[in-house]
Amino acid sequence: MKALVLEQIDGKTIANIQTLKTDDLPAGDVLVDVQWSSLNYKDALAITGKGKIIRNFPMVPGIDFAGTVHHSEDPRFHIGQSVILTGWGVGENHWGGLSEQARVSSEWLVALPQGLDARKAMIIGTAGFTAMLCVMALEDGGVTPESGEILVTGASGGVGSTAIALLTRLGYHVVAVSGRDSNEAYLKSLGAERVLPRSEFTADSRPLEKQIWAGAIDTVGDKVLAKVLAQMDYNSTVAACGLAGGYQLPTTVMPFILRNVRLQGVDSVMTPHERRTQAWERLADLLPESFYENASTEVALEKAAETAAALIDNKVTGRTLVKVR
Ligand code: NDP
Repeated sequence: MKALVLEQIDGKTIANIQTLKTDDLPAGDVLVDVQWSSLNYKDALAITGKGKIIRNFPMVPGIDFAGTVHHSEDPRFHIGQSVILTGWGVGENHWGGLSEQARVSSEWLVALPQGLDARKAMIIGTAGFTAMLCVMALEDGGVTPESGEILVTGASGGVGSTAIALLTRLGYHVVAVSGRDSNEAYLKSLGAERVLPRSEFTADSRPLEKQIWAGAIDTVGDKVLAKVLAQMDYNSTVAACGLAGGYQLPTTVMPFILRNVRLQGVDSVMTPHERRTQAWERLADLLPESFYENASTEVALEKAAETAAALIDNKVTGRTLVKVR
């Protein structure tokens, strides 16, 4: 079987397509024939070696995949069943989805919900799953479509673009923040009512600014998140899931102690099974057919490494699907 394999030579990460045997795969109770995987920001960091994602080499990257069960020792999964995997450290410390087969723990798998096929599931992927968790975090914070406008940062990315589509479908008024003027029409086609330039959010912010947003989904971090926090309404919620702009957060306690702002972290990797299943069912139900037509680019496994480099250089819009077989 073909797989993208990462090795480390003289401190540099080298990515090559290699032929592996099933026996080479790590231990696990389910063997999956992978049909589709995708490229997330974390995959791009791992494949290019730009981020310290992988500590043990050789490693097959790919933090998510969809495919069919080839062999299962767990009665909950049968041969031929369609399954999805995101997170749990797969593609980071357990061989991942950029391979024609993957052997994993049954505890990590979710049965493909009705209404999705493997390709659609990977157009959604970890990014879309995380976007759904962010929307659920806003709901948990009591943010409703009537509360006011919702800001989405890093809007052209996988998480941001899916969050816009989901919020729009749920009736929220969405404002996007993007560093790319050229993506305005695309972001509006997903449902954004306005698109603000990223430059408005990268200046230093005062501890509190004019209250504008009823909710926000932030994929960027650093100064952008600090500015967003300073502009949140009284009693609003920010779901923070990303660090595309940096991991720091130069903020103050003021939004929290004077405006009752809730900053809700969102992690998709260790999400418990029940919330995972709920999120996938809602994704299957909410995303319109047009989302799958417009939100993705498709590459072959052989092109995954060079596309990862383009993703790091912010030259990719929306989701990148990898056709594994
Ligand atoms: P993408 O690379 O697809 O998108 C990131 C977007 O952020 C870009 O499209 C761009 O949008 C914007 N951006 C890029 N570089 C910068 C920069 N230097 N400063 C400010 N904005 C920038 O990534 P994903 O959407 O897949 O992921 C977004 C973030 O969320 C990443 O940090 C990722 O690691 C994280 N993540 C976290 C998860 C979790 O479990 N917590 C799960 C999945 C992702 P534009 O050009 O429109 O500004």
